[in-house]
Amino acid sequence: MSNNLTASLTFPEGHSLKSLEFPVGLFINNEYSPASGGETIEVRAPAFDKVIAHVPRGTAEDVDRAVEAAQKAYDTVWGERCPGHKRGKLLMQLADLFEQHVEQLASIEALDNGKAYNIAKAFDVSEAAACLRYYGGWADKEHGKVIEVDNSKMAITKHEPIGVIGQIIPWNFPLLMFAWKLGPALACGNCIVIKVAETTPLSAFYATQLIAKVFPPGVVNVVTGYGNEVGAAISGHMKILKVAFTGSTLVGRTIMQAAAKSNLKPVTLELGGKSPNIIFDDADMEQAVSWSAFGLFFNAGQCCCAGSRIFVQESIYDEFLEKLTAKVKSMKVGQPFAADSFVGPATSKLQFDRINAHIQSGKDEGAKVHVGGNRHGDEGYFIEPTIFTDVTPNMRIAQEEIFGPVLVVQKFKDESDVVAKANDTMYGLAAAIFSRDISRAMRIANSVHAGTVWLNCYNQLNSQVPFGGFKQSGIGRELGSYALANYTAVKAIHINLSQPNPL
Ligand code: NAD
Repeated sequence: MSNNLTASLTFPEGHSLKSLEFPVGLFINNEYSPASGGETIEVRAPAFDKVIAHVPRGTAEDVDRAVEAAQKAYDTVWGERCPGHKRGKLLMQLADLFEQHVEQLASIEALDNGKAYNIAKAFDVSEAAACLRYYGGWADKEHGKVIEVDNSKMAITKHEPIGVIGQIIPWNFPLLMFAWKLGPALACGNCIVIKVAETTPLSAFYATQLIAKVFPPGVVNVVTGYGNEVGAAISGHMKILKVAFTGSTLVGRTIMQAAAKSNLKPVTLELGGKSPNIIFDDADMEQAVSWSAFGLFFNAGQCCCAGSRIFVQESIYDEFLEKLTAKVKSMKVGQPFAADSFVGPATSKLQFDRINAHIQSGKDEGAKVHVGGNRHGDEGYFIEPTIFTDVTPNMRIAQEEIFGPVLVVQKFKDESDVVAKANDTMYGLAAAIFSRDISRAMRIANSVHAGTVWLNCYNQLNSQVPFGGFKQSGIGRELGSYALANYTAVKAIHINLSQPNPL
């Protein structure tokens, strides 16, 4: 039961937390309010297909209000008015609070997104805290340079905050994406208006209570709503000076257009992928099989960097497929609060339908369903882990991002064959190579068009290491020191020491 300003969640019997109540109004100036239009959006638990809360359906007017609050905070208490070491301390305090509330945050994530509670706890929440802490450490270390031009003049550069930043995030890692966006932007001294995904807004709302304990009003503002309403208002806003987005390539293009048509704000885009995972005949077979299953089925395949196209060298194809099949069949598909669940449901009915449409297209185009291919159970949006074989490169399942538990396995002959196949995609987010020969692995790593390459592992993301795409997988990098460039404006100041006036 909920009204439009409070979520009251109840967890399944046996879970350590019985229930949880927290505010879900638009979070502006550290206060909660309903949407200006008075409307709400239903939030459903995908594992149970039940309505669990209602959140405000924000409007362009609400975005204006949030931008005003952010601008005021920027002009009075944040930006260069709050020194880096203090911003860093606050980010670290927020990281501590995330850790202290790990049970609540992970429980919300499990209910709202459908991912396993144990994974949400060990990965999503702890990585979100690690990311905030990492950027807390950067807050007083991101500074400019002294440039000695000649004896008569020199220059210094300052890395200034940009001002009010717009951010738009998806539903696959709701809290982690929230932290990836907040960390570098706040470390650099910006104020934020962020739109969380309409399907999974609840962990961010819970986190706003923690934000309000740490940050001054207006520094972080959260507006929920639909993409074509709140998202469009953010990306086209004249007073938002930069927009950062994670989601589909299609929407990324719309955001870039809106940014160009409004105030030419810079964009960073973290978009989709169709990442190749390459298994050579000299790979450690057991390791390659386990990492490959993890590389696709983690988060039920709803990862932008999922290893959705596996290429196996011909001589080991049969053995690899047999072992992969056994591994995939051993993975527990199940509801998020069961201790051993690994593969959860699609996060929304819309995503469930999209995945099923892709599976159908694979069948229609003549690929062979080697494993799975159907709905799992009769409650929630679960889909059986699926492997397609007999796939040709032009099939939709080999080209389009499915964003679900659907794997495509193909054969290759040699290095040049696999490089051509791996790069035959509009995307370039990630790739993996399994081989015991480091020279070979490095040759392929240098040849694949991807922003991240994993050697003998998959899905390894660390706050310190940049992440982002080549080609249509995005613009800019998140994480690591690289993300700081997204959120700073470089100012060059020329200092005349002894140069005479030219006139
Ligand atoms: P999406 O791109 O539509 O949604 C992501 C975010 O963008 C959400 O907050 C959404 O409300 C917002 N949005 C939607 N339309 C917008 C607009 N016109 N202007 C501004 N913001 C807008 O993603 P989706 O529909 O939820 O999923 C579709 C596909 O996107 C998936 O199948 C998958 O391929 C991809 N995806 C990628 C990622 C990723 O991490 N790169 C995450 C989620 C989805």
